[in-house]
Amino acid sequence: MIPVTKPFLPPKEKVYELLDGVFERNWLTNNGPLLLELESRLKRYLSANHLQFVTNGTIALQIAIKVLGLKGEIITTPYSYVATSSSILWEGCKPIYVDINESDFCIDPDKIEEAITSDTSAILATHVYGIPCDTDKILNISRKYKIKVIYDAAHAFGVELNGEHITNYGDISTLSFHATKPYHSVEGGAIITNSKEINEKVFLSKAFGHVGDDHIQLGINGKASEFHAAVGLCVLNYIQEIITLRKQRWVRYNDNLYGKLFTMDIPKNIEYNYSYFPIVFETETQMVKAKERLFKNGVESRRYFFPSLNDLPYLSSRQQCEISESISSRVLCLPLYHDLELDEVNRISSLVIDCL
Ligand SMILES: *Cc1c(COP(=O)(O)O)cnc(C)c1O
Repeated sequence: MIPVTKPFLPPKEKVYELLDGVFERNWLTNNGPLLLELESRLKRYLSANHLQFVTNGTIALQIAIKVLGLKGEIITTPYSYVATSSSILWEGCKPIYVDINESDFCIDPDKIEEAITSDTSAILATHVYGIPCDTDKILNISRKYKIKVIYDAAHAFGVELNGEHITNYGDISTLSFHATKPYHSVEGGAIITNSKEINEKVFLSKAFGHVGDDHIQLGINGKASEFHAAVGLCVLNYIQEIITLRKQRWVRYNDNLYGKLFTMDIPKNIEYNYSYFPIVFETETQMVKAKERLFKNGVESRRYFFPSLNDLPYLSSRQQCEISESISSRVLCLPLYHDLELDEVNRISSLVIDCL
């Protein structure tokens, strides 16, 4: 079976070398030397002012909401992974869904203002498939209404907009280093901010809010281990290679499928990370047929994102988002990973085309 994604694994020996040091030091977690090294290398790689490594991308979002002191309503996108919405709910806030653009599937900035009320504290938007949101318009709205902006940049590791790392936008940007992401540390995540004050709160938040016996603020446990840092350091050595390999596969899909059905356009002012290859069919029936045909031929594909988050069954009220509902009923992400054979990319493309 061809999986829809496959984690990149560095050579075992490289990981073992770092683990030897962990066993020698007997220092397993709580800001160990490997974690500090990884934080500083990631900070440099992403040209970030402040970066904190945390256990996963979901706790990154929750800590972001907590340290910004968000309350009441948070304007968000219905087209994202469930963690974007669940962290809002988990922090006791209410997600207010604003529909997406038909072109890039990111939140439609022109629909944000009409959703703002006196209860709105922030906008939490996702750079969908690594394509940046309209950060200029969102910044203007946030200034006009004095609300915060968090970007869920889980798909956007290494993406640059006009030469600037996308993770430097917003009051906070969060990353996920889950095994399924192009850059990973098995499990992991990061919180990036330009503000020293926010960064200090994040530092305390991820470690129970205390330093020694001094309990400074409310905290939770978002600390990462030396084992995760070891894998993260090793994978980081291969990130250029990973992106180059993904790009070859992405370009091949694009050559095969462009113009045949909806495929993503990468804007010219973007340095992209080739994180996903989504396709959108004309109807849900066609999508289901294609998914089944792929599966019968040994190819896994993923309805990503599905459902549209405004349809989550545990929301207190239903808000309509026509475009997001429509796209999520017809979208499929095709297999994309570093060592997927190019012949397989051709075969998968043909299977898709046969269904049109
Ligand atoms: C992966 C992902 C998350 C969650 O990250 P975890 O590290 O798995 O907790 C959140 N948002 C988006 C958009 C994601 O793709």
